[in-house]
Amino acid sequence: MPHEMTRQSPPGPLPPRFGAGVTNGPGAAEGTSPEAPAGAPGGTAAPAPASLVAADGAARTGPAPIPPAQPFHHLDTLWLQVAGTLCNLACTHCFVTCGPHEDRHAMMTLADVRARFDEARALGVNEVYLTGGEPFLNPELEAIVEHLLPHVPVTILTNGTLFTRARIAWLVQCTARERHSLELRVSLDGLDAAAHDAFRGPGAWLRTLDGLRALVAAGLLPIVTVTQPEHMEARAFAARCTAVLRAEGIVQPRLKLLPMFRLGREAVRRGGEPAPASLADLPPGSFDAHRLQCGSCRAVTSRGVYVCPLLVDEPGGRMADTLAASLRPYPLAHSACATCWATGMSCANHG
Ligand code: SF4
Ligand code: SF4
Repeated sequence: MPHEMTRQSPPGPLPPRFGAGVTNGPGAAEGTSPEAPAGAPGGTAAPAPASLVAADGAARTGPAPIPPAQPFHHLDTLWLQVAGTLCNLACTHCFVTCGPHEDRHAMMTLADVRARFDEARALGVNEVYLTGGEPFLNPELEAIVEHLLPHVPVTILTNGTLFTRARIAWLVQCTARERHSLELRVSLDGLDAAAHDAFRGPGAWLRTLDGLRALVAAGLLPIVTVTQPEHMEARAFAARCTAVLRAEGIVQPRLKLLPMFRLGREAVRRGGEPAPASLADLPPGSFDAHRLQCGSCRAVTSRGVYVCPLLVDEPGGRMADTLAASLRPYPLAHSACATCWATGMSCANHG
């Protein structure tokens, strides 16, 4: 498969702030709902948690600007945090703060997944992503995949360090047997061992590259997800990534670039650096209600349903107990929403 560049064209820098009293554009108005955002039962256009607004930290006078509300269109994509927050690594930039001792979100059992997928199918879901933590730590992962794959394409997001021969043989069998695609997304954070291991720990680069080479040797075509440094232009960075992967034996690299989000450990690591400007600062009329993945996805963990896979560990990210109850507009108040908007990214394979 040819090299794949999956980001949308960036829209250019966020427009400058225009002060308090901002009104939302037509897209936002379309998304205005009598339903309350998470944590504000019964209210309308309830404010987001104070810690999530005014992300630029600028002093404001007058009423706080109101972030646009992302309308919900339809459920395309379901994210299942099957490993909870458990991971064999403890990366310094992990936006869900996962690790070997992190149990804030528990693993999902096969029974949990069956119940959630039944809900999602009734709502028309088209594809499922399995994430964590590290999904291959879930002892029921194979049964989970075999339950889902007859019905929808499935993608497993992994750090690539836990591939055994038996596991790869099973992946090959699933890929050959099932009608729907089984994709593997393997994460890299830098273009050499020093850069990657600075985030992921000593030896991680070698283990992940070994995992990638084993997948490729078995005839699989993993997608390599690389976090894009903020100072690097996307096309030039993608070209460098492709060259590095080819030199490492990944002959047909499929690439997905992801921006750094200031979430979880990465937010802690970045300390007092100013966060991206709030979407409350968008000029009237400029909000595009079809731009962001949260108009068509939801993420489920052992603790409930969240607006998207990025905000499963953030205050205000949880929307409901059930998928059906979560299908409503969401106020885009988090600074991560500004990163999504500015980069045009989606966590899915194709966005
Ligand atoms: S970034 Fe991925 S591999 Fe690293 S701790 Fe988080 S979930 Fe684990
Ligand atoms: S972080 Fe991104 S995907 Fe999640 S709610 Fe905000 S804009 Fe939507």
